[in-house]
Amino acid sequence: MADLRDLYQEVILDHNRRPRNFRAIEGADRQADGYNPLCGDRLTVFVRFDGDVVSDVSFLGSGCAISKASASLMTEAVKGKSRAEAEALFAAFHAMVTSGVGAEPAGEGLGKLAVLGGVREFPARVKCASLAWHTLKAALTAEGETVSTE
Ligand code: ZN
Repeated sequence: MADLRDLYQEVILDHNRRPRNFRAIEGADRQADGYNPLCGDRLTVFVRFDGDVVSDVSFLGSGCAISKASASLMTEAVKGKSRAEAEALFAAFHAMVTSGVGAEPAGEGLGKLAVLGGVREFPARVKCASLAWHTLKAALTAEGETVSTE
């Protein structure tokens, strides 16, 4: 288990150091801002659709290592997915990070996103990890306002 933890830590640090899809999308179909006042994380998520498929997704912003790594992993996970698949991933991710300590980890089918499962032991970090997803959801549903984790 310690080895797995180290591996997860390594993935998170890598995505924080070299975030994937860390750029704006010119002429994005949708974008939304997210803010986590508890930690000070701020993100903008950009989405481009090809029909119902998320053909491109990116983010910009600043925040702690967890928020940045989570946003980076989120963009990798939802690119090429349909809107419904992206929302299903969000639901699975949310369930994973909010399941109680000691509960069976609900990381099934989440692939690399499972590296963030450990945050459920740190309630203050759950908002850091889920900010990118709440912001993505706002972009998908086109509410166009800043979402806050509060
Ligand atoms: Zn944070």
